[in-house]
Amino acid sequence: MNLSSKLSDPRLYRQHAYVDGKWIHGEGGREEAVFDPATGDALGYIPWLEPHQIRAAVDAADAAFVHWRALRADERCERLLAWYDLLQANREDLAILMTLEQGKPLPDARGEVEYGASFVRWFAEEGKRTFGETIPSHIPNAALGTLKEPVGIAALITPWNFPLAMITRKAAAAMAAGCPVIVKPAGETPFSALALAELAERAGIPAGVFNVVLGEPAEVSQLLCAEPRVKALSFTGSTRVGRLLLEQCANTVKRVSLELGGDAPFIVGPDMDPREAAFAAVTAKFQTSGQDCLAADRILVHESIHDEFVVHFAERMAALTVGNGMESEVDMGPLIHAQAVGKAAGIVDDAISKGATLVAGDQSQAPGENFFMPVLLTGLTRDMRLWQEESFAPIAGVMAYADDDEAIALANDTQYGLAAYVYTHDIRRIWKLLRALEFGMVSVNSVKMTGPPVPFGGVKQSGLGREGGITGIDEYLETKYYCLGALGSVSGS
Ligand code: NAD
Repeated sequence: MNLSSKLSDPRLYRQHAYVDGKWIHGEGGREEAVFDPATGDALGYIPWLEPHQIRAAVDAADAAFVHWRALRADERCERLLAWYDLLQANREDLAILMTLEQGKPLPDARGEVEYGASFVRWFAEEGKRTFGETIPSHIPNAALGTLKEPVGIAALITPWNFPLAMITRKAAAAMAAGCPVIVKPAGETPFSALALAELAERAGIPAGVFNVVLGEPAEVSQLLCAEPRVKALSFTGSTRVGRLLLEQCANTVKRVSLELGGDAPFIVGPDMDPREAAFAAVTAKFQTSGQDCLAADRILVHESIHDEFVVHFAERMAALTVGNGMESEVDMGPLIHAQAVGKAAGIVDDAISKGATLVAGDQSQAPGENFFMPVLLTGLTRDMRLWQEESFAPIAGVMAYADDDEAIALANDTQYGLAAYVYTHDIRRIWKLLRALEFGMVSVNSVKMTGPPVPFGGVKQSGLGREGGITGIDEYLETKYYCLGALGSVSGS
């Protein structure tokens, strides 16, 4: 496929890594094909860099750090705002690139560009507010306080389900704080990351501040984790890989931020209109074809409205159009690759073999090899893979519960703790659930919960740290305490 012919600006399509302001080839001849998951067509090839090229990226970032941190916060803000403007101006091309490499419907890709860009604007401004403190002194004739300083080079390792926003949510925070970044995007979706680099260059972000390295995932990650000059690692991806990277960062005692798996419960109270809750649950489950860390994976419905809820859920689900995300009127694109389809089929088979009822989901209707039709299963039980694993597929499992305490115990019965949804209008129930749910984010009567002003992140094995909000930039800042002594008589000391 001639991908550049699909774009108004073909220079946004790059098949090279971006290091120190230069587009580079791999020097060992290794490369990887990138596929359109909807058609199976090869979209292009990306080079795999050799270890010495990864080290060169660290050298470049190290050199750039000196100048980037020395800029005033308002100067960094101007560059980031220029980047934001370019993301907006090239929104359509960025969305097309994303749909082609990731598969999500074009309107969703446009939404992700908007969402991703919003973090650049947010952190451009937040960089101007990294205030230190004045500390009332307990030491005679001394002035005490803190300064906020950039932590240093940040390595950012990101997944394929949100190929643009998972980069900007980290990179904009790090760069606003004064840190250069080395981004390692997922091999399935490198083109969004490379387009971001092209636009960063046009925005006047200096060479070495925003780098994109490509390569064999375990090899590149290991090099970045072992590198003492890399001071922070921010990773979004699976809990399995997150654990591995946390271990690999131990030797150099890095600052580590992890945004990991989800497995969100979606709790519907007995007072709720079952139709309203079912429609919301369909959105919360099937966005990004279920390949979403916020996907409503375990739907818990009060027994008094369970049957009605299931009827409405099935009705709404049947209205979803599955197809190539580049076509209009498509609600759900393909899964990322054939292995994901195989895993989804295995999870459904496992549930049925353990007693679940398949209400809807006929895979013979799938429009292509990488597609998986939305599935609704009732009679979900805790011994099923669908309960125990993050399915990352459009498979909805519904379980009935008897009272709030049971709903809480079921919802918390997971290693994950990213997000939970609660649907009820009973204020006492809302408060009880809000306090008892062991999740980093609880959304009540709303599917939409994310955006730049909120602290996004999980507890338990869903991660460490928060992205976005007024604390997101702290992941890239050190606190330096100072004591200015022997000042003579200092008023107020
Ligand atoms: P993944 O863990 O397989 O890959 C993520 C990144 O790690 C990619 O860049 C990949 O190339 C790299 N990687 C893969 N194997 C590696 C290895 N052995 N060593 C080092 N690096 C390796 O995750 P994925 O399949 O790309 O993304 C899906 C996961 O991401 C899901 O678990 C989802 O819940 C999670 N996710 C979480 C959030 C969040 O904010 N909490 C957001 C989006 C996705």
